[in-house]
Amino acid sequence: MSKISTEQTIQTYGIENWGAGYFGINKLGHLTVRPTKNGAHAADVKAIVDHLISRCRLKPPLLLRFPQIIASQIRELHQSFAQAIREFDYRGAHLAVYPMKVNPRRDVVEAFLQEGSKYNYGLEVGTKAELYAALALEQPPESLLVCNGFKDDAFIEMAFLASWIGKQTFVVIEKLNELASFLHLAAQSARWPRLGVRVKLYSRGSGRWEKSGGETAKFGLTTTETLEVIKQLREHRLLDTLKMLHCHIGSQITDIRRIKNAVREAARVYAKMRKMGVDIQYLNVGGGIGVDYDGSHSSFESSANYTMQEFANDVVYTISSICADENVPEPIIVTESGRILTAYHAMVIVNVQDEIETVIDEIAPTDVDEDDPQVVLELRDLRDHITSKNYREYYHDALEHKDELVTLFNLGYIDLEDRAKGEVLFWQILDRVEHFARQSKAFREESEELQKLLAAKYLCNFSVFRTVPDAWALDHLFPIMPIHKLNEPPTEAATLVDLTCDSDGIIDKFVDVKDVKEVLEVHPFTHEPYYLAILLVGAYQEAMGNFHNLLGTLNEAHILIDEDGGFHVQKIIPGQHLDEVLALARYDRAFLHEGFRRNLVQAIKRGQVADQEEADLHERYRAYAQKYTYLE
Ligand SMILES: *Cc1c(COP(=O)(O)O)cnc(C)c1O
Repeated sequence: MSKISTEQTIQTYGIENWGAGYFGINKLGHLTVRPTKNGAHAADVKAIVDHLISRCRLKPPLLLRFPQIIASQIRELHQSFAQAIREFDYRGAHLAVYPMKVNPRRDVVEAFLQEGSKYNYGLEVGTKAELYAALALEQPPESLLVCNGFKDDAFIEMAFLASWIGKQTFVVIEKLNELASFLHLAAQSARWPRLGVRVKLYSRGSGRWEKSGGETAKFGLTTTETLEVIKQLREHRLLDTLKMLHCHIGSQITDIRRIKNAVREAARVYAKMRKMGVDIQYLNVGGGIGVDYDGSHSSFESSANYTMQEFANDVVYTISSICADENVPEPIIVTESGRILTAYHAMVIVNVQDEIETVIDEIAPTDVDEDDPQVVLELRDLRDHITSKNYREYYHDALEHKDELVTLFNLGYIDLEDRAKGEVLFWQILDRVEHFARQSKAFREESEELQKLLAAKYLCNFSVFRTVPDAWALDHLFPIMPIHKLNEPPTEAATLVDLTCDSDGIIDKFVDVKDVKEVLEVHPFTHEPYYLAILLVGAYQEAMGNFHNLLGTLNEAHILIDEDGGFHVQKIIPGQHLDEVLALARYDRAFLHEGFRRNLVQAIKRGQVADQEEADLHERYRAYAQKYTYLE
């Protein structure tokens, strides 16, 4: 096998474009991961996977978490704002809150709070369950707890509870009736949380979540409603509780200009409210910093055309210049970005289980008789006379004959043997077409259909629905690449199919700097262990992932990377077993055992099972409950 340079591999998979300095390739041809951007120490992902499989007895698929990457992203966010604040002589501060919906896993939230405590970073919740968890989490006393989302009385009561135990709580009014609840509760309390208002901006985001902003957005108050909130608070002599103005124009904002426009509008609203005598101190610009998943650094849906520093600069500069223009004090800037903080820290490792064959290349040239059906003879002629000059035309003819073959079969005119002959001939023609097309890159690229026909299908041990639901639901792109063999040329092109019995359970869109690839470059499958990493899955995928086909959560390991590039396993969390996923669909253990026993007794009665076999069979059934839901 000829060795290729790691430079070539880096280009093929675009690591330098989307890797953000966290990922690379080492001399062994293995994927590496660094705990800090462009840091000197990189751990070998293949070595981590081998260790987990052989020493920790974990089976793939695996979810690897690198908590140091969360910390590194938080530092970068902090430093970006600190830098912008210095550069523009901004007199307010920056505080961040972590939106729990992005990844509510306790380990992730704790990793955020641990690093964020150095900068007084807090939490953002959008539901009662998130708030309930936040009530139990330890935050720095100065950090904020921002309550967004639609709220009922219990939600608002819990926010009161949060403020009673000393959390710097904000109830952000999304709808007028929330204000009524708040006023009612405040009338009976000695202490209450501070208030915010979420306003609907005219400015929209960009990309897939563009609809979160604009006049028709689902969230936020119109200008009239905002004025109504101010009026009611004034009447109740509670106007001084209104301290925050909030907006959020959507996730994964791909275009920095949209952010500037929105912040400009929000800063104007802030200034006008100040001038009306409302003492707003916090301007919360929401989340939405985009992750450059495909590395194109563009305004394409799976990308973003700016860095964290550019985001911070634009937010700070825009607010500062509008405050100067309006002659109002500069507010404390609050940000709620989540995706950019957590996306990089998690990757899923899947093993390729098998290859689903379409090209039947092992079959010897078919013997065709002159009395075979006409369509078979024509396919044979195409095969025998295809050349570099006519292959495009013959390719299209072959596609037509293949359709005809199936039509004739369905009408009952040809039998199974004829159909098989025709199919083999078709694939032989395609083989030759591929041979000629290799010399003409243009044709290969223009003919997507040919590419797809020729692509191998690698059966991977995972569920798209569990692991990367956004790839299924939104055609969102995640970087995917082998974690080893990266110094051998990836000579195959494949799409990835998952274990679910669902034709949507497939990945056939891959990141590419210039375009979207329909196939992934992979190594020939040899029935040796072959592992692919699906990267940047730390934001949204885990909570959105579902249990389609009862495939459960993955075996999970938290990895810390040492100074010398070594690693240690900080924590292992086993993936779900059969009984755990079944419980989600209300098959509890008692029901299953009792049900199996009943079936067993029936079988004994019918004489299909001997009495003495009962205990053994029952024991076997019980033992299977502990199996991993994926292929072992
Ligand atoms: C979802 C959400 C966020 C987080 O957005 P990201 O794109 O993950 O940064 C922040 N604020 C609010 C109100 C949200 O709903």
